[in-house]
Amino acid sequence: MRKKIAAANWKMNLTWQQGNELVQALLGATPSIQDSHQVILSVPFPYLASVNSMVQSTSGYQVAAQNCHHLAAGAYTGEVSAIMLASLGIPYCLVGHSERREYNGETNAVLAEKLQRCSENSIRPIFCCGEPLTIRDQEQQNEYVARQLQESLFVLSKEQVGHAVVAYEPIWAIGTGRTASSAQAQAMHQHIRKVLADHYGQELAERIPILYGGSVKASNADELFGCPDVDGALVGGASLVASEFTAIVRSLCKS
Ligand code: PEP
Repeated sequence: MRKKIAAANWKMNLTWQQGNELVQALLGATPSIQDSHQVILSVPFPYLASVNSMVQSTSGYQVAAQNCHHLAAGAYTGEVSAIMLASLGIPYCLVGHSERREYNGETNAVLAEKLQRCSENSIRPIFCCGEPLTIRDQEQQNEYVARQLQESLFVLSKEQVGHAVVAYEPIWAIGTGRTASSAQAQAMHQHIRKVLADHYGQELAERIPILYGGSVKASNADELFGCPDVDGALVGGASLVASEFTAIVRSLCKS
């Protein structure tokens, strides 16, 4: 059975003091997560090691980096490699968030390299995909997302992709308050699983968690988590508020 996952994405928010308080509040409010479920905190680079050690003793909690460089090492001032993350014991890394695609010009080809760097270092990638509104309006979202998977994720072997997580995040729903309906989310997740199955086989496709991201909050989590192919959520804004994210984790644990 694939895991159900609630992943927080703090982006470039919170001071260390605020972040520390938030993690303590989460661990206090939802201290035990059963084996079939997982909470992942994608925190800024400077907080990774500390948050990683804070969650060590609480089962079900993991941390993720929000990015890594596509090359192994070298003269790239200010960048962080997958090797460095692995050396800190960081288990997950977001790859291909739409904000990085948009503001940092990350192409499908560069993201394929990042996926390889993660896999070589035993870091599980959370591969983000999703279409802009113009593509949705033209009803081309299935082809668009399939292409993102084919040109990036499919660089991974069967064995490697078995450790990956996919996050479907329609760009028009990120930070906008406009969530995809549960029917839209389910339809796309089913499509993604079929694209995965066509390439990697049904059995493997059934094992890969597919998260939904885009204005997930406590009030819509139950409905989204009720969809058979929605295996959890990647949560931005609502993950910065302890009570909201805790309620999302509780919804997940019921699903
Ligand atoms: C995200 O950044 O991945 C995200 C889904 O943000 P939000 O929940 O704020 O829409």
